[in-house]
Amino acid sequence: MKINYFECACSMAAHVIRLSYFSDDDWCSLEMHLNEHNSFFKRLIAAFKHVFKIQSCCFSDTVLDVTTATRMKETLEEFIKANDRASS
Ligand SMILES: [Zn+2]
Repeated sequence: MKINYFECACSMAAHVIRLSYFSDDDWCSLEMHLNEHNSFFKRLIAAFKHVFKIQSCCFSDTVLDVTTATRMKETLEEFIKANDRASS
């Protein structure tokens, strides 16, 4: 399994995205930490859902197929090019 972590520009650990895939699969997974609730009761409800496996309260993942991953790559390349042009 290949795993790579991408840190947020703000450096908060909760904002790290984990990208993983198996070389023999045709999909990859992007996992991210979900927003934290400020309210005690919302955190309590989230914990209840997590304990009873109603809903994951901590992490969520998005599965990308090759087509979507390619589109993401192209979008990131466009962003990098635009940023390179803006900084020069
Ligand atoms: Zn951040």
